[in-house]
Amino acid sequence: MSGEKCFNVLDKIFVQKNKKPIEDIKGYTIKYGNIVDNDGNVVDEVLVSYFKAPKSYTTENMCEINSHGGNIVVKKILELCLKNGADLAEPGEFTKRAFLNGRIDLLQAESVIDVINAKSEREAKTGIKQLEGFLSKKITEIKKEIMNVMTNIEVSIDYPEYDTPDVTNKQISDMLDSVQEKLEKLEKSFDNGKIIKEGIKTVIVGRPNAGKSSLLNAILKEDRAIVTQYEGTTRDTIEEFVTVNGIPLKLVDTAGIRDAKDEVEKIGIEKSREMTKEADLVIAIFDASEDLTKEDLEILDLIKNKKTIIILNKNDLNQKIDENDKRLTNVSSSIIKISALNKTGIEDIYDEISRLFDLNEINLDQEVVITNIRHKNLIDKAIESVKKARETLEEKMPLDIIAIFIKDILEDLGNITGEVVTDDIIDEIFSKFCLGK
Ligand code: GDP
Repeated sequence: MSGEKCFNVLDKIFVQKNKKPIEDIKGYTIKYGNIVDNDGNVVDEVLVSYFKAPKSYTTENMCEINSHGGNIVVKKILELCLKNGADLAEPGEFTKRAFLNGRIDLLQAESVIDVINAKSEREAKTGIKQLEGFLSKKITEIKKEIMNVMTNIEVSIDYPEYDTPDVTNKQISDMLDSVQEKLEKLEKSFDNGKIIKEGIKTVIVGRPNAGKSSLLNAILKEDRAIVTQYEGTTRDTIEEFVTVNGIPLKLVDTAGIRDAKDEVEKIGIEKSREMTKEADLVIAIFDASEDLTKEDLEILDLIKNKKTIIILNKNDLNQKIDENDKRLTNVSSSIIKISALNKTGIEDIYDEISRLFDLNEINLDQEVVITNIRHKNLIDKAIESVKKARETLEEKMPLDIIAIFIKDILEDLGNITGEVVTDDIIDEIFSKFCLGK
């Protein structure tokens, strides 16, 4: 519970073993006792942590009741809290209060969701970094740079007799260059950020019996794989989020690969065409124990403009396909021989993916990475405002006009950290939280 009166509610339902009045209980302490209902019956034996304002998550008075698990007891305690004056928290309300009370900025609040929802270690790490305020710091730095120049501009506008346009113009132009460079660097980090957050959208294609489902199974059953399954965007598809060796893959239409087993047609060329269209990475698998078939060649034609890894499967059998075959090397320089059946060569695939996506270069300890589309859009908008400000400068517009565009940059950046954000946006952001977070 959080809020000025939460200790009053607690007092009605919690009987401490060694009773102390609330004034005598310090923050960051834990008291032992029983939760009792209004008739004095013991509901559970609990530990209660006390946090006193302003030293708590929300900066308000807070307490946390640690009961034994299980649905009935927990539900009963919640009911008692509500019956004795507490209100049920909205989704994200604790974090929202922390934001509204100024303990964290909006970026940090959003990163709490990212940490909770993280599907991979890398993703959790970027979330934590953002929670620590790395991105906020970066944005504040850029804003300060703009503010410094803005102060000079305002002086010039307010006291035109001191106007020294040449100096000011140079200052503005240098500042715009530097700000644009920093914003563009942040913007670019989104590609990596997106990979970390959403995974590399990967499809496995190949004619029937090439070994698609064997490869899929080898990947999914890997000891170190963290697998999250969820429904795909179109009906009847399943997407699987896998992280192996720190490489986040979003495998698309894994259901198609599995269910195709009994169908006469299996995955046809048309279907493959559709699937590969949106993919960041295509893994094309061929049965190397047989010559390339017409269907294989059609598949090669389909993927020639994609980031592709060609897999020559069944290398435990006699090989009929040569890895130097021009028809393959023309499509991709990444050609890997494996046996999906014996699970050999699978590591090489991961190494190749790391290489193709520069994953080793994403150094989370040094770089600020943007993972949130809201931030990316606002940074794009800020870059546009920088460009507009530069145009007005080049067109020798009066300073007060230039100032308007520079203020736009500040506003875009303020929207990211939440200083000038509207209630609607705040509501939307916090609605993505789960209850009680
Ligand atoms: P899909 O139709 O592309 O999904 O292919 P499957 O994964 O179902 O494999 C087709 C057949 O090839 C199955 O009988 C597999 O056991 C077999 N197979 C798959 N990979 C290998 C391999 O590396 N070596 C051998 N010898 N057989 C394989």
